[in-house]
Amino acid sequence: QEKAKIMDKEAIKRALRRIAHEIVERNKGISNVVLIGIRRRGVPLAQRLQQFLKEIEDIEVPVGSLDITLYRDDLNLRLEQPKVGKTEIDFPIENKDVILVDDVLYTGRTVRSALDALMDIGRPKTVQLAVLVDRGHRELPIRADYVGKNVPTSRKEQIEVRLEEIDGVDEVVIGEW
Ligand code: 5GP
Ligand code: MG
Repeated sequence: QEKAKIMDKEAIKRALRRIAHEIVERNKGISNVVLIGIRRRGVPLAQRLQQFLKEIEDIEVPVGSLDITLYRDDLNLRLEQPKVGKTEIDFPIENKDVILVDDVLYTGRTVRSALDALMDIGRPKTVQLAVLVDRGHRELPIRADYVGKNVPTSRKEQIEVRLEEIDGVDEVVIGEW
């Protein structure tokens, strides 16, 4: 039942601003960059990165979204498989530097599905991953290129990411629920 706040509004803002600078540096500018948020909370995070990138480089990069939901199929009731839902990417990703944005990185299964979905749409030049929180416990060879905060967790713990656009408040809390 214990919960601890691990990021407040300012910490989230600083982390995203820093990631925006890292994106500019790693890609030598952002003229070829597009952002794709993984719903639900990856989308406002991608929009905030778009704003920071605009402040830094005076370019408005496109923002799209992917919906990946977990489902249990009939054949494999034990395992939840991520499935691609609604996709809103109304710009070409061909030869682009695509930055996937999500709130929490855990096993890596969601990102794996997102990569599948992207490859169906086009052939990006690169795909990079930005997450607000990396909580560890990867089950696939997937890592984030940009991390707001590394938070070692036990499997029992949960990270709660609350964003103003969705939850009315900016904070990251860790606890067991
Ligand atoms: P993965 O697919 O890597 O196991 O989990 C990542 C996805 O599940 C992300 O889209 C993230 O939103 C969600 N997720 C996994 N663990 C947590 C967590 O502890 N807290 C929150 N808020 N989301 C999580
Ligand atoms: Mg998610």
